[in-house]
Amino acid sequence: MQFRIVTLFPELVEGVAGFGVVGRGVRSGLVGMQCVNPRQFTTDLHNTVDDRPYGGGPGMVMKYEPLKAAVETAKHSLQGQAPVVFLSPQGRRFDQATARRYAALDGMVLVAGRYEGVDERFINSHVDEELSLGDFVLSGGEIAAMAVVDAVSRLLPGVLGDDESASCDSFEDGLLDFPHYTRPESVDGIPVPEVLLSGDHARISRWRRTEALGRTYKRRPDLLGDELCAEDRALIDEWLALQQASKG
Ligand code: SAM
Repeated sequence: MQFRIVTLFPELVEGVAGFGVVGRGVRSGLVGMQCVNPRQFTTDLHNTVDDRPYGGGPGMVMKYEPLKAAVETAKHSLQGQAPVVFLSPQGRRFDQATARRYAALDGMVLVAGRYEGVDERFINSHVDEELSLGDFVLSGGEIAAMAVVDAVSRLLPGVLGDDESASCDSFEDGLLDFPHYTRPESVDGIPVPEVLLSGDHARISRWRRTEALGRTYKRRPDLLGDELCAEDRALIDEWLALQQASKG
């Protein structure tokens, strides 16, 4: 999977490529990442990439021509069709299903905006999709672009080791992940749930499913949809009863 990041601040994103899961993906050749700086495509003495907004108002707007040249260069460096995704608070919310969709691609171009944003004509002519990290405003699209690179990279076959499979992560089966514990067995007087020490894999699996269903029901009921099967409904009722009992 090849990522091209169009950014005025390559140093900001290049650091991410050296660490953790993305770093391992890059070192193993499964992930490729290169930055393209619109400033390289300016023709004036001051390498101008932004200008004042027409109609007045605060801030600066990223200019059309350097962005267009940067995106064209990024696309030419990729094989086949690669979508151009502009990171924007006005885009569709990024989620795990979108990360999965991107993970099936050979490459993509992520465009990070700065300042007040980019000339709208660039979005209309050269962007396939606008993607938001959430309902808040960042100072630039680089952090959002790196969130996409990270979430997509961990879904690529071979990037995660077997013992950290993404298939158990939150959202993968429409549920939040179950809680995790590690040694010691008791810390500050708080024990690990007994079932996890039992060695009974069927019980552990049932407990994890119950916890995943219960916390999804409590924290993100929107993920469950309208139609729960009777078995899952019963597990949620069991989880709610246990919660109630532990309070009382
Ligand atoms: N004036 C713009 C607006 O209100 O829609 C916000 C501009 S913001 C200060 C600068 C850049 O940060 C944006 O062009 C975009 O690339 C990026 N950005 C800000 N918030 C974002 C978010 N929630 N998701 C993705 N990118 C974001």
